[in-house]
Amino acid sequence: MNYDLKGAKIIVVGGAGYIGSHVCKTIAGHGGVPVTFDNLGSGHEHAVQWGPLEVVDLRDKSQTLTACEKHKDAISVVHLASSIEVGIGEKAPAEFYENNVVGALNLLDGMRAAKLNNLIFSSTCATYGETDQMPLLESQIQNPFSTYGKTKLAIEHMIQSYHKAYGLNYVTLRYFNASGADESGLIGEEHDPETHLIPIALAAAAGLRGKMKIFGTDYDTPDGTCIRDYIHVNDIADAHICALEKFEAGLTAAEVNIGTGKGVSNLEILKMIETVTGLPVPYDDAPRRDGDLTRLYADPQRAKDVLEFTARHSGLKNIIQTAWHFHSAKWNVN
Ligand code: UDP
Repeated sequence: MNYDLKGAKIIVVGGAGYIGSHVCKTIAGHGGVPVTFDNLGSGHEHAVQWGPLEVVDLRDKSQTLTACEKHKDAISVVHLASSIEVGIGEKAPAEFYENNVVGALNLLDGMRAAKLNNLIFSSTCATYGETDQMPLLESQIQNPFSTYGKTKLAIEHMIQSYHKAYGLNYVTLRYFNASGADESGLIGEEHDPETHLIPIALAAAAGLRGKMKIFGTDYDTPDGTCIRDYIHVNDIADAHICALEKFEAGLTAAEVNIGTGKGVSNLEILKMIETVTGLPVPYDDAPRRDGDLTRLYADPQRAKDVLEFTARHSGLKNIIQTAWHFHSAKWNVN
């Protein structure tokens, strides 16, 4: 993909986070200038390395309007900021709705006032809910199970309404399992608390946390563990560049899965970690985790057709190698 952003400014809301920092680096790699809007609640200032940072909390409407007005020369907004820990969403839905839905509404209004007309929104496969239809097509009914998925779906609907009434152009990217890290080792996954399989299993392999738990070994899958579609974070970042290019070509509205189309089981992840690190991953079988679906993987065809996007970094070995490169340096283990 050779798309040249020619110095264009792009607002990246949540640019200090895991996916956001990779999006910023990729934008800069294509000659653009990413301007991060982030409240640094879960993002990290040290991850903002490719453009300026505006400390903005979307829940504060006047702050959001002011920041949008200041950067109204941007060609697009990328919105990635949100609460993401599924378990916390079940215990504290008020916080989730305020941060995700009210925040997105304020951003949409800030964009409208500043005449910022292009939006790339990070949604999730968690908006689909329980289904036996695999791979998942974008036309699949969306009936999310978790508060997290419900907030993302509410935002998808808001964006569709703003498109219809106010002419907002949008690309909603429904990510599958973001994973891996930039090859440079400069940025990677740094959640606190960490709940995701790969960083937890790497920490277990590094001897930093004792045995990990594999949630559910009695699923109806070949090895009894859940199946997910792991997509490298730099592929996700590339999908944003494809969307920017398509805005320029006249795309006005699309919902697109961003996955590989390939399902990988939890035990296959552990096996690959053992191969890459040369270390065993100590684990215990544990009961199923509330809310986990048996298998989730994307139909990636629409991403190819609409965005001309194909995953190039998402071989499982590369995902684990890049994640290990980042984490082992951070933890100071070899
Ligand atoms: N998982 C696990 N042990 C952990 C964390 C996750 O067995 O400590 C499993 C989880 O139950 C699911 C898969 O790993 O089957 C992927 O979970 P993750 O939280 O990484 O992503 P999700 O698919 O929930 O977005």
